[in-house]
Amino acid sequence: MIKAIEIELTSACNARCPICMRTRLIEKGIPVKTEHYTIEDIKQYFGPIDMKDRRVKFCGVLGDPIACPDLYEISEYFLDKQVKHIEVSTNAGLKTTKFWEEYGELSERSNNRLEIHFAIDGVYTNDYRVGVNLDKVWNNVDTYLNAGGFASWQFIIFDYNKDEVPIARTMARDKGMKFITRTAWKNDASAAEQEEVRRKTKNRDYA
Ligand code: SF4
Repeated sequence: MIKAIEIELTSACNARCPICMRTRLIEKGIPVKTEHYTIEDIKQYFGPIDMKDRRVKFCGVLGDPIACPDLYEISEYFLDKQVKHIEVSTNAGLKTTKFWEEYGELSERSNNRLEIHFAIDGVYTNDYRVGVNLDKVWNNVDTYLNAGGFASWQFIIFDYNKDEVPIARTMARDKGMKFITRTAWKNDASAAEQEEVRRKTKNRDYA
């Protein structure tokens, strides 16, 4: 039986992260056509399928799920179909305060089955997420959490933000979020530099 399914809800995104396939295509002059799945599409595809106890992940290769206009309705639909868990990975730089409040309330009603992974790569700086306004991000995160939303903070370690990891870890704990670090490197990083990042992450040397 299929236990988990990952769906790319949209090809839209507000960011231009340098290593993202979306950014690379645009830089090569290859346009990324904006398309979203709608709640009607999802009902048509998943209506006949028993989703009870399955996991759903909204992530993206070309888009950020928060840019999908029907994200709330689609999340609610899968929760009503008794999925075990929904994970939404987002840069958190879009949508209104009203949306985040209502989405937080939906998460709370779901008994933590709806979880956001906030992709925020820094406390004071968010350089990798080019085009994302950090003040708006924190307003959105706090609104969602204060409404009862369940979330984790996913932090990719780069040279520019590695000194912020201990602060971020404390902030995540104070806000009630699990803190997850990921490694990444610029394309020109040497093998030794890559290995050093792996070692530090494994040993939690940044903590
Ligand atoms: S937020 Fe995600 S989809 Fe958007 S540019 Fe960055 S990596 Fe790509």
